[in-house]
Amino acid sequence: MNSPKIPLSSPDVTEAEIEAVAATLRSPQLSLGPRLAEFETAFTLLTGVEHAVAVSSGTAGLHLAMLALEIGAGDEVIVPSFTFIAAANAIRYVGATPVFADIDSVTLNLSPAAVERAINSRTRAIVAVHTFGIPANMPALVALAGRHHLALIEDACEALGATIDSQPIGSFGDIAVFAFYPNKQITTGEGGMIVTRDAGLASHMRSLRNQGRAPTDSWLQHTEIGYNYRLSEIGCTLGIGQMRRLPAILDRREEIAHIYRQHLSAERRLILPIDEMPGCCISWFVYVVRLADKFTAADRELVIRELEQAAIGCGRYFAPIHLQPAYADVPVAADLPVTESVALRTIALPFFNRINDSQIVTVCDALKLAVRRIS
Ligand SMILES: *Cc1c(COP(=O)(O)O)cnc(C)c1O
Repeated sequence: MNSPKIPLSSPDVTEAEIEAVAATLRSPQLSLGPRLAEFETAFTLLTGVEHAVAVSSGTAGLHLAMLALEIGAGDEVIVPSFTFIAAANAIRYVGATPVFADIDSVTLNLSPAAVERAINSRTRAIVAVHTFGIPANMPALVALAGRHHLALIEDACEALGATIDSQPIGSFGDIAVFAFYPNKQITTGEGGMIVTRDAGLASHMRSLRNQGRAPTDSWLQHTEIGYNYRLSEIGCTLGIGQMRRLPAILDRREEIAHIYRQHLSAERRLILPIDEMPGCCISWFVYVVRLADKFTAADRELVIRELEQAAIGCGRYFAPIHLQPAYADVPVAADLPVTESVALRTIALPFFNRINDSQIVTVCDALKLAVRRIS
């Protein structure tokens, strides 16, 4: 198919950022230089968390979080199935078992009650994902983790800049991870950032991202088996420029979500994403609507086909992880009725900083036409 006239997502890189990247390319240091420290500092300032460790992707960050917390074979980690596969994969990289817990039908984030039911003597950690930029119920999950002596990891890859009662997402867990793939709120092409208050965990993850070199090791000394999960000066330079614009980016994305709601709220065949949560600030990652409960997966396919024919990019976020072929060997401990029901009917609409208001209206008109056709 031809590329859509209105894509699902599109990166937003300014000429000034391109100039800054070019300047870095003309410098002698393309890795482990001054931009790395500067980009990391931007995250300690944003989150109020003392230590930040830049890595080559969000997935790499989640992997290092599992390693630093010494999660391994025989351990269970509770994670949602209705999310991107990276967190569950990180659990499997270290030989631990992901245990899927169901989600809340309104926020689409982990249900604390379902998490509590999944806890047993093998449970070591909870991964709270802030899906689509909507804050997970951190007060409840922090309390649960504390009561059961579990580590709490925030997968904040979709929620840069979100807050709960003015407290930044990323500052609730033992470790939190952000990501900068081109469809995220900010991008470095590929990249991720880990934040933690624990100096020991931070130092260990710095070593693991750099081939297992301890802080006192020279280039050819390796205290342990590590990885090359470094983020280049090129990526860090782009990230610094993007972080400077973060407030404006988040404002525009909120405006886009608002315009979508204005044009779609009268359509009873659609369930719109929650957009007001007391005390919370959402960081809009994508705008995911879903068909009302009476509709089927086949109805969704018809709607998506209509949108694609109108050259509008859309996505089926998310296909549950526990139903992926790669997870056929992972037993599902509990039923996941909300996950399975919601996932059949979601449609992600075009969402990016530079989408203009008339493009949003075009998407909404096409969507309304398509959903009227299925009922
Ligand atoms: C984007 C994302 C990640 C990390 O993705 P990378 O492509 O590895 O940077 C992890 N979890 C969630 C929920 C994400 O959306």
